[in-house]
Amino acid sequence: MTICPICSAKIRLDPFEKVRDSKSRVVEILICGNCLVLLNKNVFADLEVAEKAEDLQSSGYEGTTPSTTAIAEELVKERSNLLCYLLNHPGDYQQRRSAYADIGCGGGHMAIAGCEYFDRVYAIDFDSTGFFLTESLITIPENLQFAMALNKIDIKLDLVTMWHVLEHLPDPSTFFGELKSKMNTGAILFGQVPCYRPDYVDQSHFAFYNESSLATLLISSNFEVLEIGFDLENSFMSFIARSSKEKSEP
Ligand SMILES: [Zn+2]
Repeated sequence: MTICPICSAKIRLDPFEKVRDSKSRVVEILICGNCLVLLNKNVFADLEVAEKAEDLQSSGYEGTTPSTTAIAEELVKERSNLLCYLLNHPGDYQQRRSAYADIGCGGGHMAIAGCEYFDRVYAIDFDSTGFFLTESLITIPENLQFAMALNKIDIKLDLVTMWHVLEHLPDPSTFFGELKSKMNTGAILFGQVPCYRPDYVDQSHFAFYNESSLATLLISSNFEVLEIGFDLENSFMSFIARSSKEKSEP
């Protein structure tokens, strides 16, 4: 690799270390000397064979799989608390709550919770298993639409959440370019990624971000970084960013 897929620097990515992944396979971790992101070289090599990143993601739905209506309802309530926290964060969407999307929605609980606060809600995931499981347990609000890709979103979003999505993307710049075009100026992006820990090195995680690499990616994709924080118990990093004005906009 001669271009960093995160910061686009044209530099050789240096060997960082060799480790065993969650399936005991020996994998090589590379580091970008510019943004300091850590990349799993073997997952990128797998991608050349698989063609699509989706094929590398674990087969079968691995998210929370509630088996009863009560559990599904409880999950929606939990996600609702998280959304409430976020909606108290200052953002332009305080005045305008037309549309919200949860990217990588899994069972769709966060998106369902969002239906109370937004006129239109999109639950986006390339794998529909989790969402359809939830649909079999609880009533899906009428203002919620499930889609398997961003191009199905046909109005501008005011809030986007992406929980443990970024690390699964081999080309996050292209993804953010498309996502940004679906967001209003001033819209808020809220996400979380795993930090670099042995337990999190697996066959679906392309990149391990740190504050520097995450900020570099967000800023180059025309987002303003509002906050980066750490969940020290679980070794997760969260971020809140605001969609900036495009350079072509007045
Ligand atoms: Zn880089």
